[in-house]
Amino acid sequence: MRYQFKFRPYRRRFVRRLTTNHGNWDIREGIILCLTDETLRVGWGEIAPISWFGSETLEQALDFCRQLPQVITDDTIFSIPDELPACQFGFESACEWGSGKWGVGSKGDEENNFITPNFSLLPYSGLLPTGEAALNQWETLWQQGYRTFKWKIGVDAIAHELEIFESLIHTLPASTKLRLDANGGLTYEEANLWLWTCDNLKANRELPLEIEFIEQPLAVGQFQGMLELSMSYQTAIALDESVATLRQLAACYQQGWRGIFVIKPGIVGSPSRLRKFCQQHQIDTVFSSVFETAIARFAALQLAAELSRNNRAIGFGIDHFFEQEKTWLQSLWNDL
Ligand code: MG
Repeated sequence: MRYQFKFRPYRRRFVRRLTTNHGNWDIREGIILCLTDETLRVGWGEIAPISWFGSETLEQALDFCRQLPQVITDDTIFSIPDELPACQFGFESACEWGSGKWGVGSKGDEENNFITPNFSLLPYSGLLPTGEAALNQWETLWQQGYRTFKWKIGVDAIAHELEIFESLIHTLPASTKLRLDANGGLTYEEANLWLWTCDNLKANRELPLEIEFIEQPLAVGQFQGMLELSMSYQTAIALDESVATLRQLAACYQQGWRGIFVIKPGIVGSPSRLRKFCQQHQIDTVFSSVFETAIARFAALQLAAELSRNNRAIGFGIDHFFEQEKTWLQSLWNDL
């Protein structure tokens, strides 16, 4: 198949600054792609890199788009190098979109169908604000229907975070699940302390809710440490930064990781190869956002719906981070 190829870079400001152990994040930048095949079917795609998380940089993605001709083929798309995982995702998902197999993509359908896809059967995880703000802002998310929450740790001093944690578990309703995401920011001793605290509270029946897992307690280079921790404690561990791309995911699996894998489709790489890997190894996955727009989110949710197991909530609870997405996207592609 041959496609007319167009692209357009975008910049969007978060309504609220996102703070993690990697620092502050105020503006999301990415690229929207449009592929039109010979039958005039249109497929939309999005490249939303996070270079500090392990993908290519925005500049590398832009350079790749700029050097492509105006007409590209399936060969072009399926031979994008592994060094450009966000590009692999963006182009391949634009192809899938255009193929019509998601029930969108025919001309004129886009506006109505893809902004609010019906993924309501999937449980969603909502991202709580960092620090003490979580204590009085969870309710808004609860009212929006979230029952699984994620809270960032490893941002402040551990003693202070453990104090807030103590309040948080007694503030959140008992039916909620809580995920603690360290973004690789804990030392081995601190990770032990968090895991011990969770195990201990549970053993003493002092845990009113379920701690679903601790996410990426140690830095990417400390895989063996996390493997050891996962065997020493009951509280589950999920790898996130360690498995940012398919290549890393396969390497961790081969080195014995049988805990949870957080998959960010937007930067993991080729959707078709991801599908194959998940189906072949039946890994325990949590699908998660890269703060993409509705375009990449739609493609990512297709994958999540296909590949999620164990009824784990997906980490796409981010609608409140962007304002007026629909209007914004419409104005963007109106002049594409
Ligand atoms: Mg994470």
